[in-house]
Amino acid sequence: MRKAFLKQMQAKLVEMRRQLLREIDKDRQQGREVTKEGGMDSYDLASEERDREISFLLTDRDREKLQAIQDALDRIEQGTYGVCESCDSEIAEGRLIAMPFTRLCVSCQAQEEKEAKLQRRYDDDRAYRQLGATDLEEES
Ligand SMILES: [Zn+2]
Repeated sequence: MRKAFLKQMQAKLVEMRRQLLREIDKDRQQGREVTKEGGMDSYDLASEERDREISFLLTDRDREKLQAIQDALDRIEQGTYGVCESCDSEIAEGRLIAMPFTRLCVSCQAQEEKEAKLQRRYDDDRAYRQLGATDLEEES
């Protein structure tokens, strides 16, 4: 990986983290305002519960994204950023610009997706066969 490119990606990741944190902060502030204005008395309990669930999910997803950004920044520090975890070859710069968190090169990613698809098909087949076997047993 070129040093200049790594620096560019590092700046991009730091900026992504900054933006994400700002968004999370904005969401939290909006959440506080709603609670303040509505108050618990006039607030439908069921939707209060649902809102909390949604904000919980959001937080989880945000945390995951933050973690992905942090991992990528750590890899830049360690000098392992942009190296495919599967085949150790360098990941194309264009691919890293489009997907800054990616850990696999194009061909390994394609391979992994193909295997995932095969695995899914295998699981479907097995479920179908099990279903068929059960039907037979019930008939006899
Ligand atoms: Zn690879």
